[in-house]
Amino acid sequence: MIPIPPEAGNAAATLVLPFHGGCACGAVRYTCSEAPLAMFNCHCRDCQRASGGTFVTVALVRAAALRVLQGAPRAHRSAGDSGRFTDRSFCADCGTPLFATGEVAPGYIAIKPGSLDDARWFMPSIDTWAPRAPAWMRLDPALPKADRTPDVIRGRRAKPPA
Ligand SMILES: [Zn+2]
Ligand SMILES: [Zn+2]
Repeated sequence: MIPIPPEAGNAAATLVLPFHGGCACGAVRYTCSEAPLAMFNCHCRDCQRASGGTFVTVALVRAAALRVLQGAPRAHRSAGDSGRFTDRSFCADCGTPLFATGEVAPGYIAIKPGSLDDARWFMPSIDTWAPRAPAWMRLDPALPKADRTPDVIRGRRAKPPA
């Protein structure tokens, strides 16, 4: 294993509110005034497609706490493994994945942490749809595994941060 120096973004850091982020080209900028209610990895087929890789990792916040400051992310709607719709938005200019909203969690929006200006505080706490992860992928044994999207990260049942 290659040690990653803290400046490369691997060190835990304290979340400072509001936090900010944006896309790779700078066309889209956003700010969020509240701490995430949940942070997780999703391995469902729909997220695999959306990521272009193997899974999606997100920070779930109340939609009212997020404000797009500039730019207009474009959205793509798809029906996920749960059979419900998810709208995933991205920068129309550079393609950076930014947000997702879905029927599964009304009133909430998922932020893709790769778009955060400082993502060092981000730490997923669960792997959802874990059985869909590819066989070659080594999931973190320290994280709980869920077969689907658990209630704790669904809409009004989302748990406030401890
Ligand atoms: Zn962009
Ligand atoms: Zn998913």
